[in-house]
Amino acid sequence: MSSFSRKMLLKYVRLRRVYIKLFFAVSILLFIILVFFLNFDIDEQLKHNKQELSTNLSAMYEIQLKDYENRIIPHLGENGDPAYLEGSDAKEGEKALKKIALNSVLSDRIPLNRRLRDPRNKKCRLFSYDPKLQASIIVIFYNEQFSVILRTVWSSILQTPKHLLKEIILVDDGSTESSLHGLLDHYLATRLSDHPVKLVRIPKRVGLIRARLEGARKAVGDVLIFLDAHCETTVGWAEPLLQRIEEDRTVVLVPLIDVIEADTFAYSTDGESSFQVGGFSWSGHFTWIDVQPSEVEAKKAVKPVRSPTMAGGLFAINRKFFWEIGSYDEQMDGWGGENLEMSFRIWQCGGRLETIPCSRVGHIFRAFHPYTFPDNKDTHGINTARLAHVWMDSYKRFFFMHQPSLENNPIVGDLTHRKQLRQKLRCKDFKWYLDNIYPEKFVPDENVQAYGQARTPFDMCLDDLQLPEDRAGPLGLYQCHPRLEISQFFSMSARGELRKENVCAEVFNDRDVQLTECHGHRREQYWILYRNGTIHHPSSGKCLSNENVSMSHGLKVDTCRETVYQRWKFDHVNMTAVLV
Ligand code: UDP
Ligand code: MN
Repeated sequence: MSSFSRKMLLKYVRLRRVYIKLFFAVSILLFIILVFFLNFDIDEQLKHNKQELSTNLSAMYEIQLKDYENRIIPHLGENGDPAYLEGSDAKEGEKALKKIALNSVLSDRIPLNRRLRDPRNKKCRLFSYDPKLQASIIVIFYNEQFSVILRTVWSSILQTPKHLLKEIILVDDGSTESSLHGLLDHYLATRLSDHPVKLVRIPKRVGLIRARLEGARKAVGDVLIFLDAHCETTVGWAEPLLQRIEEDRTVVLVPLIDVIEADTFAYSTDGESSFQVGGFSWSGHFTWIDVQPSEVEAKKAVKPVRSPTMAGGLFAINRKFFWEIGSYDEQMDGWGGENLEMSFRIWQCGGRLETIPCSRVGHIFRAFHPYTFPDNKDTHGINTARLAHVWMDSYKRFFFMHQPSLENNPIVGDLTHRKQLRQKLRCKDFKWYLDNIYPEKFVPDENVQAYGQARTPFDMCLDDLQLPEDRAGPLGLYQCHPRLEISQFFSMSARGELRKENVCAEVFNDRDVQLTECHGHRREQYWILYRNGTIHHPSSGKCLSNENVSMSHGLKVDTCRETVYQRWKFDHVNMTAVLV
């Protein structure tokens, strides 16, 4: 081949390579452009489909809502009167009551914006209020009934003057009920868009403590008012709360909580004359107690009444103060204990807890919790162990006597932050709290004549026979446990009661000895402990005896005489208090 033709061939081969490269480059470019447009088209298509889906969903929710609204019976339950359904609805209602402790069938028929009677004491009208602070109402819920939540919202809108209502924040604690998703969103968007109602969703259930915290973080009003999701507020409920917090930013307030019956939705105002405030039991439970002697006058005048603790579901607090005083213990899980933690903390760290009798809110008290907790964890017990370690100093001994398995249990978690908080806020100790805020609280081993196990010469001990807290039952006898356990922890109080926490030994028919609620000065509950171990009951003239008593039956009083059956030996006796 000539050199010329070789050159041509080489040039041709090179050119062909360039063309091939060019071809590939252009093809790739075209491919990319194609993919881009196709994608664009798919995106457009998706967007379009989404819009269509949401229009269809909206239409579906609207049909569901209309259907629901059409079934509402006008004026049912008006004024808070009891409401009833008939026929199969009534039966369904009963079933619901058994299943979720609330008549949801009836709730769905009662107007969401029903009117309630003004439940307030007439004297409340003498007060005038003009608060400047605005409220953020926080309502947390987990699988509550759609209509019950919305009645809480509607009553808050209708009963709170507009200029005092900053917002209502609904916090969904990971509910799984389908009606609380799209349908609720749709309701808020179409029925409540003119009102400042916000909905915060927590994707996975975190328990009521962290749910309330989430709501508080979102809130911007001056005062946080927490409500359970099954409440109805009544006329004039918000003003006294806001006004009092305006006067003193460190008070934490509880309205007078009325009962809305879970079966008829009747708003009951019976509680007013006998309204109570919050106490606690050494087992770590919230209890209702009579208004303290120092507060009886305030109660009569329907003025703020001091309360040692609060129930926890309904309360108002200055938003900034809520954060300053330590909000909540975020490591508390599930349900329970947070109310006592907050109560002790508020008092010990410089705040005040009060019940405001002129602020009235109804709450549905359910006979049981319609929900369970993951792994059946005793969150109330664990949370209470946390607060006992942080706030109760040595008095935590009583709680751990009720729950010995929690005393040194790692399940209780790390407490460093809460202990630091107590130091930072320079909080007072629990003894101060008991002495000054709750002096009526019976401390089983303080200021008593004797306490501990009360033993017979046959190694048998006084025993409450596992009597449930605050129930009446026989005072029994059982083999002494090797360690002091709560069922055998008895005290002879300074005023001569043979008692446990809230139950006292009382003689019936001059014979049978029962543990019943302590009444303070009842003659039948008065005993004298003698140095020789006799326990004398002056009102019957007899002595506590264990003669012919079978192990788990009630004790009796018998004619006093020199016998081993009438000798009792307490673990600890204050000889100076026992006179004779
Ligand atoms: N709640 C919640 N998460 C839970 C359990 C309860 O948000 O894991 C809500 C519940 O819906 C209610 C409030 O917390 O609004 C208080 O609970 P509940 O009413 O059952 O307590 P109770 O009034 O019986 O003490
Ligand atoms: Mn509740």
